[in-house]
Amino acid sequence: MKVQRLTILGATGSIGVSTLDVVARHPERFEVVALTGHRRLDVLAEQCRRFRPRHAVVGSSDDAGRLKAMLADIGTEVLAGPEALCRVASLPEVDAVMAAIVGAAGLPPTLAAATAGKRVLLANKEALVMAGGVFMNAVKTAGATLLPIDSEHNAVFQSLPADFSGDLARHGVRRILLTASGGPFRNTPAAELAKVTPEQACAHPNWVMGRKISVDSATMMNKGLEVIEARWLFDATPDQIDVVIHPQSVIHSLVQYVDGSVLAQLGNPDMRTPIAHALAYPERIDAGVAPLDLFQVGQLNFERPDLERFPCLALAYRALRAGGNAPAVLNAANEIAVEAFLDGRLAFQRIAVVIAATLDAVPVAPAADLAAVLAADAAAREVARVFLPQ
Ligand code: NAD
Ligand code: MG
Repeated sequence: MKVQRLTILGATGSIGVSTLDVVARHPERFEVVALTGHRRLDVLAEQCRRFRPRHAVVGSSDDAGRLKAMLADIGTEVLAGPEALCRVASLPEVDAVMAAIVGAAGLPPTLAAATAGKRVLLANKEALVMAGGVFMNAVKTAGATLLPIDSEHNAVFQSLPADFSGDLARHGVRRILLTASGGPFRNTPAAELAKVTPEQACAHPNWVMGRKISVDSATMMNKGLEVIEARWLFDATPDQIDVVIHPQSVIHSLVQYVDGSVLAQLGNPDMRTPIAHALAYPERIDAGVAPLDLFQVGQLNFERPDLERFPCLALAYRALRAGGNAPAVLNAANEIAVEAFLDGRLAFQRIAVVIAATLDAVPVAPAADLAAVLAADAAAREVARVFLPQ
């Protein structure tokens, strides 16, 4: 067995920590070449001590100095800044890159990994939402392997034929059904949504995740971003992707075929399952996840999403249909609005209002290259800030 050499972008986050947990269970299979983290230097230092990467990357040169001092005795090279992220994502000695930075900051290094032809384990859905066309072209041109970590897309990937070539119709697929837990406010009346706090929004019923994606789950923008992610990963039209609320989060998504068959992937809600699947693909390894106990689950329920209480999902379909830079605009406006909500500067229900107003204000234009995507991202951030309470 050839040892797989890994770069983990966003090692200190929720997905990064789960990735290292799986890696640690299989020391004979994986070698960590580089780890990156933005803040939480103590966590990154401790990870470096344990996994002994050749390189570590932090956000600022001040933090690089601090981390260097903390790691003086182990010889990990400490780098700083966005270019260093791209560098460790494309090092010749790296086989696979876990893309687990949150938000638009993850796009350049994730794209760098694809351009370098790596096996890309994609958790950073925002990269694909912003730059789907550019990203998929880079994957194809460089012959990179793209494996979805997002639990829904990993489930769809597992439920598609092993020789899936990107043509859903040819493989007899009618629809992709993405499941959604409905988040912490699934049953909260609209009138009460106005007053919910960041702490309530981040208390997800089934998953423990970073704060940004937790808020996205609460507004259901997370599912909207995932619809756009599915469009690119599986070359699906918007009409071929449906969202089903499934509060137990046991069925991670489904594929409906023309003959009436529906294939699904099930499991306990634990991100180590899709992470282990992608790390070992096409083999299977122990993820440390308890076996699913269907008797304990008891019931699997399904509901239609309520687009009135959760307008973000409809906004994502709107941006997907508009095409070009619209998904990048949607994503940028969402990042600005979520940050403002987490800072206590924006009411929960105003998140969708800020995003809709930004989509109205920024003209749709082609997104043919990374520069065009980043320009749309920057323009949308500026516009979205204008719609925040002053
Ligand atoms: P998190 O907030 O826990 O971790 C984010 C990581 O990114 C951290 O290591 C942080 O240091 C790093 N980071 C943040 N800002 C950065 C910047 N400007 N530059 C460089 N690095 C930066 O987030 P998470 O929950 O682990 O999510 C990571 C990604 O995975 C997101 O795109 C999210 O949508 C996706 N995802 C997460 C889950 C989950 O269960 N947590 C599930 C599916 C998809
Ligand atoms: Mg998901």
